Amino acid sequence: MSEDNLKFETRLLHFGGEIDKATGASSVPLYQASTFHHEDVFNPPLHDYSRSGNPTRQVLEDYIALLEGGIRGFAYASGMAAISSTFMLLSSGDHIIVTEDVYGGTYRLLTSILNRMGMECTFVDMTDLDQVKSAYKANTKAVYMETPSNPTLKITDIGGVCEWAREKELLTILDNTFMTPLYQRPIELGVDIVLHSATKFLGGHSDVLAGLAVARTKELGDALKQLQNGLGTVLGVQDSWLLMRGMKTLGARMAHSEQSAAKLAAWLSGRSDIEGVYYPGLLHHPGREIHEKQSSGYGAVVSFDVGSGQRAKEVLNAVKLPLVAVSLGAVESILSYPAMMSHAAMGEKVRHERGITDGLLRFSVGLEDIDDLIADLDQALAARP
Ligand SMILES: *Cc1c(COP(=O)(O)O)cnc(C)c1O
Repeated sequence: MSEDNLKFETRLLHFGGEIDKATGASSVPLYQASTFHHEDVFNPPLHDYSRSGNPTRQVLEDYIALLEGGIRGFAYASGMAAISSTFMLLSSGDHIIVTEDVYGGTYRLLTSILNRMGMECTFVDMTDLDQVKSAYKANTKAVYMETPSNPTLKITDIGGVCEWAREKELLTILDNTFMTPLYQRPIELGVDIVLHSATKFLGGHSDVLAGLAVARTKELGDALKQLQNGLGTVLGVQDSWLLMRGMKTLGARMAHSEQSAAKLAAWLSGRSDIEGVYYPGLLHHPGREIHEKQSSGYGAVVSFDVGSGQRAKEVLNAVKLPLVAVSLGAVESILSYPAMMSHAAMGEKVRHERGITDGLLRFSVGLEDIDDLIADLDQALAARP
């Protein structure tokens, strides 16, 4: 059997760094060192300082590059560190076209920090390729995608955007946090840089904050390397190890959670007291066909509208099983309230325009038995204070 033909789930366990070359140990050693001795100064060691390179972090960086099918990977202190470091590829005066329902933290970065550095952006509904095209200006340098988007799971045609962006010589960046490379490999569809909040599904246990980036070409890899080292946004050694530990079970976790998410979405759709259910696996979900062309799964996040802010708060107070928290993608289910949590940085008017209503809840389905999760949500939906 050729190593190259391994299926993705096998690759998650057999990625090349799973056994320590020096001792045969069954996991990567923690090289808890900031610097490296130069035995011979004329012949420096491979790694000389841990900001520039650390052997434990390197295994993780090679691991994500392999999974995403890119040339080089990078690990950062958080998803936002990965995203902000990547935007540093651009310069003052550059314009970026961004999906309008971008992650709240990315929205804040673009509208309250990068704007001060002279970068401008236009938010567009990326479900509509014409809107992407009409946002083009003479100084446009990049397109930033997120699909399915957060929290209403809107679908962008990745290949369609990339084809147009290539004609215009624009850099394409995609936040792949929701799908992970298990279900969606954007580089294969033409994207230049893939980003992750590895805090979510890749880490999977709500115990590590991390970000990852993967570059399609050597040139972009070199540029990202210079930025990661220059900005110092690297992931620490212990967190690199912990993240790899989580990533090994991505396939099993996602498969279970996705099956449960489909059941939850179907159950919610059948209720008359729910105003809307968002899940790419639902038959009526807008963009479902495009999603199915570019992804092999639907993921584990289901959003639904309970009708009002008052009712949303009642449900949040009444649920017993899920964590009520910011974040997603963990072994335990997490119920979050976008209007007051992840998207609180967005003004109310903009939020409502983007479908993030006061009654919208986002359920990230974990590994509990789905019947227990549904029974819990059922009692919470019936609850009154
Ligand atoms: C959480 C999240 C981020 C930010 O990641 P952190 O690890 O919290 O910095 C970025 N994008 C998406 C889609 C996310 O869910």
